[in-house]
Amino acid sequence: MGKIMVIGAGGVASVAIHKIVQNKEAFSELVIASRTKSKCDALKEKLDERGVKIETAAVDADDAKAVAKLIAKHNPDAVLNLALPYQDLPIMDACLETKTNYIDTANYEPKDTAKFEYKWQWAYREKFEKAGITALLGSGFDPGVTGVFSAYAMKHHFDEIETIDILDCNAGDHGYPFATNFNPEINIREVSAKGSYWENGKWIETEPMEIKRVYDFPEIGKKDMYLLHHEELESLALNIKGIKRIRFFMTFGESYLTHLRCLENVGMTSIEPIDFNGQKIIPLEFLKAVLPDPASLGPRTKGKTNIGCIFHGVKDGKEKDYYLYNVCDHESCYKEVGSQAISYTTGVPAMIGAELIIKGIWKGPGVKNIEEFDPDPFMERLNKWGLPWKESFDPEKVE
Ligand code: NDP
Repeated sequence: MGKIMVIGAGGVASVAIHKIVQNKEAFSELVIASRTKSKCDALKEKLDERGVKIETAAVDADDAKAVAKLIAKHNPDAVLNLALPYQDLPIMDACLETKTNYIDTANYEPKDTAKFEYKWQWAYREKFEKAGITALLGSGFDPGVTGVFSAYAMKHHFDEIETIDILDCNAGDHGYPFATNFNPEINIREVSAKGSYWENGKWIETEPMEIKRVYDFPEIGKKDMYLLHHEELESLALNIKGIKRIRFFMTFGESYLTHLRCLENVGMTSIEPIDFNGQKIIPLEFLKAVLPDPASLGPRTKGKTNIGCIFHGVKDGKEKDYYLYNVCDHESCYKEVGSQAISYTTGVPAMIGAELIIKGIWKGPGVKNIEEFDPDPFMERLNKWGLPWKESFDPEKVE
């Protein structure tokens, strides 16, 4: 049984922490550390005395020295980073200093450039190898489960995968005209960026939301979806050998897109600081402050999510299609852990990744993307911990 330190106490962290406390066979001790300690204390108060010892702490995770000091004090087997992408590098530095394993769900993004790439974290490969510790990158749903699905398809269903389409559908309705399902700043930076996909060895860039398709999602029905750049495309293009094309599509409703367009047109999604009454403010950070807190959407969100991967390739000389997906219900998630399905579908895989690292079932050393590990123990645990997967051998294809 292991000791885990979770950094962050937001939507995703709350689910992961609920699941850690449910998984007493893997976790005996938990430290919750975040910028606002009262949020850590509220989680401790709710989940204390259920068999996992919980401690809390305040930490500024932008400060690697402060994180290293905290890790040294508590000596966990691994740190699960569920703060924001900006904190990835300082937390990895702290893990290196204290020789502690590291897990996250989103790749590093500098605060002043809306561009997420793995290059910054991949630059730590040698350092982690030398220190004899493992960094598991991207143990959420997408990235995360989508990489595990790809490794599973490769291991059990294909000799060669030619194309992967990752489809992320959220058919949930929270009743607000506009709100984001996870951190608004990160979400808006992601969807207002240019789209791109990998084809025949190179990246093809598109304008934001330029490519639209309609897809009939199992258990949900027809939805508009748009091609986006997404971080797992970068690692899967590298790790699924011989892959010819990978694309990522996410569904958006008309109301969301109309609001987003309007906010963009008036400059509210900009990350360039502006002067306001003698003070410098970043419009997107201000917008985040006026939008509903994603954590508050839990009790109001109804409907389902369906996230999965459609593979096309060759097995035993024959062409083959294969679709692996998970359907998750917002209201059931809220009933179980007090959060909607977006946080749930990220928090559960984060806990599973942490369990596999702590138990040494997955080990490096080095900096690894999730699809580099054996998918089978993760797939078993998805079924066990609330994200059962389904498969189809005759899926509708995306043009
Ligand atoms: P939230 O904004 O709800 O939570 C972020 C938490 O991090 C908050 O508790 C916040 O503290 C804390 N935090 C922020 N900055 C610091 C800092 N400098 N030091 C210490 N703590 C800090 O975000 P989410 O829970 O929605 O998202 C968490 C992560 O999960 C993000 O990286 C996001 O990109 C990722 N994600 C990944 C997905 C996937 O499928 N792979 C899907 C969805 C999200 P405070 O409470 O004080 O604000």
